[in-house]
Amino acid sequence: MAHLKTERTLVIVKPDGVQRSLVGEIIKRHENVGLKLVAIKMVTAEPTHVEQHYTLDPEWRRVTGEKTIAGYREKGMTPPSEDPYEITAAILEGLKKYMVAGPIVVMVWEGAHAVKIVRKLVGSTEPLGSAPGTIRGDYVLDSYQMADTDKRAVRNLIHASGSPAEAEAEIKHWFTPEDLISYRRMQDAIVYSPELDNYLGEG
Ligand code: GDP
Ligand code: MG
Repeated sequence: MAHLKTERTLVIVKPDGVQRSLVGEIIKRHENVGLKLVAIKMVTAEPTHVEQHYTLDPEWRRVTGEKTIAGYREKGMTPPSEDPYEITAAILEGLKKYMVAGPIVVMVWEGAHAVKIVRKLVGSTEPLGSAPGTIRGDYVLDSYQMADTDKRAVRNLIHASGSPAEAEAEIKHWFTPEDLISYRRMQDAIVYSPELDNYLGEG
């Protein structure tokens, strides 16, 4: 089995993140925690590429639709439809407009538990509930309610893969194998070396 430190995850700075000059800040937060950047590019996405990205998991339409319906009920609201697929179709239309509105920055980050660590940095999906200290919690104040009222996607700045399997599929969707760079970093020895006993004495 591959060492845990080789886990990779896909992160996208969405168009609002680029427009608000948050690319550097977002990269910095991933660097700070010790993750290693192994691929990066700025692109203007095509709507079909965006739709394929969100539907790489064949279950995504059903799961997201059901989750959204449950979210309405939890707030005591009536969902706009009882059909999860109808709900996700509307979400997908909004996402296709949002994600192509301007350039996006697509990155692959590598490191131990990369998927979970990045999800922790990014915060929960709806900015209204994202904890302070997370990227969404610190930099954006959107909500599903406001997005639904204005018939648009929720502006949550950033995408991050939800599981290692999702990460693998998403990385393949945005990058070729040659785009992913394997390299050693000096600080990796400090982060990962099983022994940390060599630092006393003259240089
Ligand atoms: P993420 O992985 O944290 O981005 O969240 P998901 O994979 O569950 O959802 C992907 C995208 O679908 C989100 O970034 C939102 O744009 C949208 N979305 C998910 N759930 C809802 C919801 O309950 N309401 C609305 N309006 N959009 C949603
Ligand atoms: Mg997701």
